[in-house]
Parts: sequence; C-alpha cells; structure tokens
Amino acid sequence: MSKTVLVTGGTRGIGRAISETMVKKGYKVAANYAGNDAAAQECAEAIGVKVYKFDVGDYDAVTAGLAAIEADLGPIDIVINNAGITRDAPFHKMTKDQWQQVIDVDLTSAFNVTRQVWDGMRERGWGRVINISSINGQKGQFTQANYSAAKAGLIGFTKALAYEGAKKGITSNCVAPGYIDTEMLAAVKPEVLEGIIATIPVGRLGKAEEIASMCAYLASDEAAFINGATMTVNGAQYIAG
Ligand code: NDP
Repeated sequence: MSKTVLVTGGTRGIGRAISETMVKKGYKVAANYAGNDAAAQECAEAIGVKVYKFDVGDYDAVTAGLAAIEADLGPIDIVINNAGITRDAPFHKMTKDQWQQVIDVDLTSAFNVTRQVWDGMRERGWGRVINISSINGQKGQFTQANYSAAKAGLIGFTKALAYEGAKKGITSNCVAPGYIDTEMLAAVKPEVLEGIIATIPVGRLGKAEEIASMCAYLASDEAAFINGATMTVNGAQYIAG
C-alpha cells in the first residue's frame, strides 16, 4: 500500500513542487496551507492532491488538521516540514512580533507537526521526517536574525530526532536550500536579488523541483542509512563543512 505524506506549505513554491513529485512517485499526498485558498484549489486540481488549511504554528490547529488528514488518507508515514515565512528587518528594528511569527511558523511548527505523528511512526517502526531549513540557517544573513535562528534551530532539532528515531526505523534529515525561484523571493528587492545571484557560482537561482527531488530521495527506502544529515542544495553558494 502506498505511504502517506504530509507536506506543510505544500500548495505553493517549493512545497508545491514536493507535493507534485511525491504524487508522481505514487504516494498519497496531503498538502497543507495557511490562507491562500485560490492557490490551494489550483494546486489541488492541477496535481491531484488533497489540501488542508491549518496554521502549523498553532498546536491545536495542527491536531485538528492531522486528524482530518488521517481520516482521509490513513496514518502519516512521511512528514515534510516545509511551511515557512520571512519577516525581515535589521536587528535594531526587529519587533517582538516579527521574531515570534517566524519562530512559530518556521520552527515551532516542526515540533507541532512531528510530535503529533511521532508516536505512530514509532509504533509502526517506519517514518521519515524531512525539515526544510535554509542556507541562511547555516551561515546567517543580514536582516534575518529571526529566520536564521529558526532555520538553524531546525538543524539541531533534526539531529536530536535522528538519534531518537534510529532504532524505530525513523530517519530525520534536513534539506538546506539556497536561493530558489519562488514567491518568497518577491520580498527581496530586485537589486538585492541581483547581488545574491552574483554570489551563486552556478549563476542562477535554484528550481523548486531541485529541492523536491532531494526530498523524494530522503523519503525513499534507499535513503534508510541517511539520518541526521543536512543536505545543502545551493549551487555551491555556501559549502557547509
Ligand atoms: P512560499 O512563500 O512560496 O510558500 C509558502 C507555503 O507555506 C505556502 O503554501 C503557504 O500557504 C505555506 N504557509 C505559510 N505559513 C503557513 C502556516 N502558518 N501554516 C501553514 N502553511 C503555511 O515559500 P517557498 O516555497 O519559497 O519556501 C518553502 C520553504 O523553503 C520555507 O520553509 C522557506 O523558508 C524555505 N526556503 C526557501 C528558499 C527560497 O529561496 N525560496 C530558500 C531556502 C529555504 P499559503 O499559500 O496559504 O500562504
């Protein structure tokens, strides 16, 4: 029987590409989203996934969302914690709200979702947790103290879960994308983006599909011995040790 995958933020950008790739590979896919119903409907129709609206930063909303998914598709075997936002500001201007929103959606969400599917994975003796971090969690970035902290936090979270899940057949890994051509980059000023592209040795932004294929590999049985890793997919922009 095909396994069930939850892709948080699975209706747009990188998440949508992950959802599409996993559908093509024969998984049952639940794509979560926050509020953009039109994009979610379009995604559902275009790639044939079921879509579920709930805020991954809210533990109780996640409880209800997971219950709906499991009622429709069965127990969740693979979680791809992809939902994320930016609220950039230089640190001397960063507000408590900008800090908290990013920590809630980009980091606490991984606890909210993974904690609630973890027991089931342990009982069934198989699971995959894939956390979408970022190049800026690896190296830091101007105006992103909140985002860099959240994305670095995901790397530590992943490593701890790798130890704890290993004997139960669960792997936990991170994917750290470089700059990928999605709507998230619309928040970056064109002249800043041009400067960023100039620092990418391959000379272009990444494609969402290039992150999706890494996630599909990490979800597969072939990747069973990869556990606690951070896979950088960034066109050689930053080569982590
Ligand atoms: P997009 O902004 O294109 O899409 C974000 C998705 O996340 C949407 O489906 C959105 O739903 C959903 N989402 C946002 N907030 C919530 C929430 N509170 N609860 C549930 N779903 C939510 O982002 P990208 O595809 O660019 O980014 C995906 C991930 O990759 C993020 O974690 C990001 O940090 C990371 N990343 C992106 C990079 C890039 O260059 N693009 C680089 C490195 C990492 P809705 O449509 O309803 O708003």
